[in-house]
Amino acid sequence: MEFLISELEREPVEFDLQLAPGAVDFGDQAQQEGLLGTSGHAEVLHEHRGPKEIVPDIRLRGRFSGKFHVPCARCIEPVEVPLTAEFDLIFRPVGADSDAPERSITAPETEIGYYQEDSLLLEDVLREQVLLSLPVRTLCKPDCKGLCPRCGVNRNNQTCTCDEGPADPRWEALAGLRSRIKS
Ligand SMILES: [Zn+2]
Ligand SMILES: [Zn+2]
Repeated sequence: MEFLISELEREPVEFDLQLAPGAVDFGDQAQQEGLLGTSGHAEVLHEHRGPKEIVPDIRLRGRFSGKFHVPCARCIEPVEVPLTAEFDLIFRPVGADSDAPERSITAPETEIGYYQEDSLLLEDVLREQVLLSLPVRTLCKPDCKGLCPRCGVNRNNQTCTCDEGPADPRWEALAGLRSRIKS
């Protein structure tokens, strides 16, 4: 969904959507499961910067709710992460701050983003908001054993014999012997 500044100048826009997986591209950091619900309100805020300069900001307030699969930080198996969050964001036209990096912000709790050309894509906003809301580190279970760093098996459901491998003192002795032969 695209918010056109020309339409928002006429009247604020309410939205209430159910986005199918694929509508928003989350890359490989998260996979959407089922519908992603989002609703909210978009409007123009005119920022008066002196007698002639009026900057049309877009204020976007809303919420989203959906289910995602995120790879476990240790074993990379997908972990289900339900997400619900609210956002209250201000978008300025790109370039509006190029001459004055420290403008006062309308409301201290809002974040500032930028929109290109004359419109803002809701999908772009959702991608960023969802990725920001994801936990920094997701584990499939608190004691996930992860992948074997040597052979790559998932140690939660397979055992491998790598542990007695190169860490074995006899292997170290052999490696020492090898380096002596080389030198
Ligand atoms: Zn895991
Ligand atoms: Zn192994």
